[in-house]
Amino acid sequence: MPEVPPLPRAPALTSLVARVFGGAPGAAAAPGCPDDAGPLAGAVPEFEPRPGQRDMALAIAGIFEQGGRMLVEAGTGTGKTLAYLVPAILSRQRVLVSTGTKNLEEQIYFKDLPALADALGVRFTATYMKGRANYLCLQRLQTLRESRGGSSSSGVRPSTGSGRGELVEPRRRESDVGPRLSDSRPRTSDFGRADTDPLFGLLLDWARETETGDRAELGDLPEDLPLWNEVAATSDACLGSNCPHYNDCYVTRMRRRAAESDIVIVNHHLLCADAAVRQGEYGEVIPACAYAVIDEAHQLEDVATQYFGIAVSNYRVEELCHDAEQVIGAHGLDREGFELGQSIEHLRDRARTFFMGLQFGRMAGPNYQGSGEDRIRLNSEFLADNADAGHELGGALEGVEQVFCAIKDAPEDALAIARRAGEIRDELRFLLRASDPDFVYYLETRGHGVFLRASPIEVSRIIRTQLLDRFQAVVLTSATLSVAGSFDYMRSRLGVHPANELRLASEFDYSQQAILYLPPRMPDPRSPAFPEAAAEQIVEILERTRGRAFVLFTSYAMLRAVQPAVERAVTFPIFVQGAAPRSVLLQQFRTTAHAVLLATSSFWQGVDVVGEALSCVIVDKLPFASPADPVTSARMDAIARRGGEPFWEYEVPLAILTLQQGLGRLIRHRRDRGVLSVLDPRLRTKAYGQAFLEALPPAPLTTSLDAISRFFAE
Ligand code: SF4
Repeated sequence: MPEVPPLPRAPALTSLVARVFGGAPGAAAAPGCPDDAGPLAGAVPEFEPRPGQRDMALAIAGIFEQGGRMLVEAGTGTGKTLAYLVPAILSRQRVLVSTGTKNLEEQIYFKDLPALADALGVRFTATYMKGRANYLCLQRLQTLRESRGGSSSSGVRPSTGSGRGELVEPRRRESDVGPRLSDSRPRTSDFGRADTDPLFGLLLDWARETETGDRAELGDLPEDLPLWNEVAATSDACLGSNCPHYNDCYVTRMRRRAAESDIVIVNHHLLCADAAVRQGEYGEVIPACAYAVIDEAHQLEDVATQYFGIAVSNYRVEELCHDAEQVIGAHGLDREGFELGQSIEHLRDRARTFFMGLQFGRMAGPNYQGSGEDRIRLNSEFLADNADAGHELGGALEGVEQVFCAIKDAPEDALAIARRAGEIRDELRFLLRASDPDFVYYLETRGHGVFLRASPIEVSRIIRTQLLDRFQAVVLTSATLSVAGSFDYMRSRLGVHPANELRLASEFDYSQQAILYLPPRMPDPRSPAFPEAAAEQIVEILERTRGRAFVLFTSYAMLRAVQPAVERAVTFPIFVQGAAPRSVLLQQFRTTAHAVLLATSSFWQGVDVVGEALSCVIVDKLPFASPADPVTSARMDAIARRGGEPFWEYEVPLAILTLQQGLGRLIRHRRDRGVLSVLDPRLRTKAYGQAFLEALPPAPLTTSLDAISRFFAE
């Protein structure tokens, strides 16, 4: 993101925000009093005055006025989105809002902002920017079409302006029906294989019509459709301003819209991906913004670690080979001789040897669990074993770079192939050296994917310089940012120094709305007896809550160990993470009476089920990050090297925040009621357990299963 110049102050902002939320700054709020509610009452569905929301809005208005950074922990029920959107809109400056989940992005764009436009009577514009891979790349579509045998002129009408060809044909008549995957009528396309490939025909039909290029318009497109990966507007494959479609490009248009908007909504993935693109020409899309609100900020460290790292994978090399073949086919470059095709085949061959070698090395290692998904830290022996194959792969990448550079009058997309090959070669060499002490080097496997990775051990400096310093004022907020009343942990992890702080307790009354059940006796969670005892407790609890529960596990291994016993013992419908996409499972859970969901990490946060459908959340163990994980172990090593205590400085605070997120799934509304349970006995048997107990929601504690029955009988 470009830097923004200093802004004139807007001294009236705090007063404006105070008027919206009712009462003067510093005045006591009067919850429930309509006269104090301001213009939001009536215009925003279910709005009710909340002191915490008003305090948060005023504090954010203040930081926008003064500049600087602020951490705001807003407990559940604060209504934090309105608390930051109102000052953002009234500031009359461009404000970036970044969230951790798609759900929250959509809530802000489709629900909160329209409601506020009505309520505030202020005209403003907003753009919802998705990640680049959600948009169609016109250049890649044209290359794909031409490589499949379509004529380069058949679908391209001359542009009246730039003299460059346009891919998109005139829009069809209004009465034409938009494409649907279920529509399997034969296509009468003029683009080669489109006649025989219904998905490609569908894509071309849609490409002629779409105004946004957003794949969401193709509602029933499978998430992992390989065809989409061939035409997605990823930064890797982008030609930037050298692209003949640059002006019509959907990403360019999205960026222009955002640059003219008052509110720009992104997610942390796009925020970090954008900041990680240092050259700007080939991928930067987020425009300069004066202020930023980073919601769900507890997720930022993980996302930044992912995007500011380096990864070379078999998928990335194969994608390069595939795109190179498309370019050869589209431009008839095979006439250049055999070298281009041969260089790609050679690259494929070297990549196969290298990545298979990594796989074999991993399987022969001492920590191999037989799992399809794991991460192992690389050591010098492992790297030495694979160095020769790695250097040969580097040489093959260099070969592709050279032959594509040497093409006479090379088209831009051929030069882009050379550039990508050179980038992958450089990154591979960095990974094989494994010598930068600021990075942790590891091998990750996921399905058929083999990823050689380097992640920054500390991202706090990167977050500060690449993200936070770009804005006049930044607010980082979440329901869980502090540990034992202190923001120290989050300040150090995110590089937020100095910063104002605000902590707002949950608006929910846990003393009335929930109870916390801790089993009186449980084996140590590391003992072989734990899974069986956990299954027994889960069954006992579910019988009393009549299902309606999330059972959140800290690992797939525990889920798998417990699942059969629970399935045998209860008659409630059971859904299991992995059986369907997350959104489908959630929808099934919401609409199935007495459902039980067995899940791991991806359901611990960002999941909202309001009402009776979710009346119980059970957590198996304290969610300590695995010390075997390469990034976790490297971070702990780094803290130990500077004389700190990794367990207390890193592991405990991280686990407390994760536990709070998991248990926070239960009460999402004033009328919600239910049972929280943590089966891990270390809460009471270990010295550190007290730190966890103090961080739990303030619900009455019980060790009696009968208390659960009584709670639901009330
Ligand atoms: S500018 Fe990049 S993303 Fe846009 S059409 Fe061209 S290559 Fe594709």
